[in-house]
Amino acid sequence: MTTFSPSRAFALELDSQDELASFREQFVITDPDLLYMDGNSLGRLPKVAVERARQLVKTEWGNDLIRGWNKGWWEAPRRVGDKIGTLIGAAAGQVIVSDTTSVNLYKLTMAALRLQSGRKRIITDQFNFPSDLYILQGVASFPGGDLRNTQYEIIRIPAADDDITPDLAALESAINEDTALVTLSHVLFKSGYLYDMRAITDLAHRKGALVLWDLSHSVGALPIALDDCNADLALGCTYKYLNGGPGAPAFLYVNKKIQEKVSSPIWGWWGQNRPFDFGLDYEPAPGVDRFLVGTQPMLSLLTMEAALEPLLQAGMDRLRAKSILLTDYASTLTEERLAPLGFSPGSPRDSARRGSHISIRHTDAYRINRALIEEMNVIPDFRAPDNLRLGFAPLYISFADVWDVVDRIRTVMMEKRYEKYPKEKLAVT
Ligand SMILES: *Cc1c(COP(=O)(O)O)cnc(C)c1O
Repeated sequence: MTTFSPSRAFALELDSQDELASFREQFVITDPDLLYMDGNSLGRLPKVAVERARQLVKTEWGNDLIRGWNKGWWEAPRRVGDKIGTLIGAAAGQVIVSDTTSVNLYKLTMAALRLQSGRKRIITDQFNFPSDLYILQGVASFPGGDLRNTQYEIIRIPAADDDITPDLAALESAINEDTALVTLSHVLFKSGYLYDMRAITDLAHRKGALVLWDLSHSVGALPIALDDCNADLALGCTYKYLNGGPGAPAFLYVNKKIQEKVSSPIWGWWGQNRPFDFGLDYEPAPGVDRFLVGTQPMLSLLTMEAALEPLLQAGMDRLRAKSILLTDYASTLTEERLAPLGFSPGSPRDSARRGSHISIRHTDAYRINRALIEEMNVIPDFRAPDNLRLGFAPLYISFADVWDVVDRIRTVMMEKRYEKYPKEKLAVT
């Protein structure tokens, strides 16, 4: 492991050796002093996306009008899906862009349960993103079709003692012959813990369970090998590390080996075999396309397609190498400079088990977060109960940024700037 020296000059030295440093110039940066540490929640705007959006609105919407559907709009969910596929180790024909992460989780969970009829157990963990847990609860409480008489049991794997890591022994023993589905976030949204995709997938398969991975916090941050790990199903957001823009549509993956066996619970015309026959009865489209539902938000989808370019150019291996160095550096600086001020780690120390964000804990994390945003020109975020979360998007975060964030947090603490903020929380934290 790299030995980090505590001076800012050392951060500048790391920046001078960073072969990805110039990618920052590919992003719109209106305020060079702003330390934007929330790229894991809403990525920055790539310049190429600005150009693409302008052209889309003026030329394609404004001039082409409905002809646009025959000039690349109609195929966009598959075309862009295949591009995202190259980032997640999925061969062509297995990924589509469609709807939202939450809705895709509903579609894929229902599809998995139908395939696994007779099995009643759904396994997830208590760290999963709440929307994921709610979708599972909704599925279990409101089954339809041939799921009607099945009483599903949702098991939430608890934390190991430090509340950072899931209890892997509990996970292993929970997966049994009655398990229909194991569904987990690949990287946990609070602690940044990174599951071993291959090991968990193998574990589930040995008991005949299917696995569905939510890649929202790993896609674009680290290399993923869905095909190679023999994953069954996956999905994720495009507005986090993929920089697709607020509300950009999500993606989903269905492994080739089960594509012809699964059905979507929402039968829309985009998922129909021959939509322009306007036939009266549904017949599923071949392959993963059957998980499309209806007309997609083209302005957003095609802008997101352009936004992928810097990421595709940089390549996931180089991004991961920088991400590990950034988060190791941040962890070291936290230990040396913030632990004495009452912070404790909220993320794994081992980079092999960590995504590209870290949480640091403090009982006053909410008010510290407010002070950083309002007075220090830093944007982290707060995740209850006590996590100050920092995202290190390797395309545009520098090592000097890491040093500066820690330094500005120190200023807030030494000058007790957070104390004047109320403890009541704003709507969006
Ligand atoms: C960000 C995120 C979501 C968000 O879902 P939306 O449907 O886009 O609101 C869901 N799950 C996980 C794990 C996430 O990180």
